[in-house]
Amino acid sequence: MSEYVNIKGVVVRETNLRESDKLLTVVSFEKGKLAVNCRGVRSMKSKRFSAAELYAYSDMTLLYKDGVYSLKEAELIESFYGIRYDIESFAASSYFSEILESVCIENQPDPELVSLFLNSMYLLANRKDKPIPFIKSVYELRTALEEGLAPDVSCCSVCAGTDSPGYLDIANGVFVCADCFHSELSSQEGGRFLVPLGRDSLRLARSILAAPSKRAFSFSPDRQVISELSYASEKYLLYHTGGNYNTLEFLHSVVQM
Ligand SMILES: [Zn+2]
Repeated sequence: MSEYVNIKGVVVRETNLRESDKLLTVVSFEKGKLAVNCRGVRSMKSKRFSAAELYAYSDMTLLYKDGVYSLKEAELIESFYGIRYDIESFAASSYFSEILESVCIENQPDPELVSLFLNSMYLLANRKDKPIPFIKSVYELRTALEEGLAPDVSCCSVCAGTDSPGYLDIANGVFVCADCFHSELSSQEGGRFLVPLGRDSLRLARSILAAPSKRAFSFSPDRQVISELSYASEKYLLYHTGGNYNTLEFLHSVVQM
């Protein structure tokens, strides 16, 4: 049995095979994550060349046959070309795509995650006023949100206060204010994995998590607030996705957080 399938998808991994063939990992709006075979696509003469490059976002026609997808036709929508000339953006896109690849599942579409990735890539390719640690923090928090793993930062999980600095309790996914942390109750639970979250970082985390998708990147916080939230959101996502992302070390080596 064979059939043609049309998808809109972005290449998150490419592996060169023999001759001019490639194996792509594509994350699509319609079918989640897919392995796609591409024959003859490394030849510059191939019309599909640009659509089969890493981070290319394209309209693709695939042939599904004997359990394998092959790329038949493709029309490039966006190449995110600017990322190739900016080592910091490239490092961030490597980390984002590794996360996307690890949380997406074959034949389980998650259009919000694909949109989040594309929006992040657009900002990385057209860098203006958004610092990379901010884009990263939004990406991490919104990935947690889409996966149903978002922390509850609406108030302190002990006293329900909403306006004091405190800590993000990484494992339990809750916020604990500084007063409650120093109280007897919290000190009895000394083994908890807590990272500091000041008042402004707490508010920023709430805003990022509550925003409609298109507005998630619309904030312009101070450098120090970004730095604090970036540390917390990274620890949080790594803990909850069981991630051990190879690309994160590279990102830290080129971007000061
Ligand atoms: Zn409290």
